[in-house]
Amino acid sequence: MSMHAAAAPGRRPLDSAAARATELTRVYGEGETQVVALDSVSLEFGRGRFTAITGPSGSGKSTLMHCMAGLDSVTAGAAWIGDTELTGLSDRQLTRLRRDHVGFVCQSFNLLPTLTALENITLPMDIAGHRPDRQWLDTVVSTVGLAGRLHHRPSQLSGGQQQRVAVARALVSRPEIIFADEPTGNLDSRSGAEVLGFLRSSVRSLGQTVVMVTHDPVAASYADRVVFLADGRLVDELYAPTSEAVLDRMRHVDAASRTS
Ligand code: ADP
Repeated sequence: MSMHAAAAPGRRPLDSAAARATELTRVYGEGETQVVALDSVSLEFGRGRFTAITGPSGSGKSTLMHCMAGLDSVTAGAAWIGDTELTGLSDRQLTRLRRDHVGFVCQSFNLLPTLTALENITLPMDIAGHRPDRQWLDTVVSTVGLAGRLHHRPSQLSGGQQQRVAVARALVSRPEIIFADEPTGNLDSRSGAEVLGFLRSSVRSLGQTVVMVTHDPVAASYADRVVFLADGRLVDELYAPTSEAVLDRMRHVDAASRTS
């Protein structure tokens, strides 16, 4: 099944998505060692939506995220963040775009151990020389639910609390989109639920757009929409997912990709 929900290449969609890709292809290596990590993927990430990207290991999830976040170059096709086409930007322009318009949350929390939670949250803005909007910062901080712990150092926080700080740090600059790469990969299920609940409330209450790569059906079920990759292609999608429905589709996708 192919899914070409996005507009024709080069043309802007009528309702602008937070990010989109048209016929995105990424090939690594050459000759016999060539790997087609992404094979003509077209999709949009709706503004103010929580989308999960899932699929078997090696299906192209990270490659798709990296290409759409401007962290990796593409072999063919195009990717946009808002109205900006990434292909064609210089390294310097890409760095600026990522800094000003994209938030990242990774598996490891990447907090600075000598700074407090609050200082970690405002650090990227401090480095960029931007003053955080006080009211917005208060909103983010109250949504993160760490009142009373904001002046603690990361080592004094649980894993779930540290990852919530990392999400708050991504939120504070009001990025066009947040990409989260296996954000619960280092967490037990209770801490994972805490972080996923916070990601979901950042979408529902704050209007943030979040795209999350995960292989975990429970994590994916927190999203509004799940897209499934297999062998570098978009093969399925599910709205308002339950973890059982995601697991069921994953089994089908997995079986189909192993027999192809
Ligand atoms: P996933 O995130 O779903 O596990 P990836 O996007 O990491 O999948 O990888 C997709 C395919 O591309 C895999 O076959 C992987 O081995 C290959 N791949 C990813 N990155 C590179 C790279 N830098 N060089 C060569 N092959 C790569």
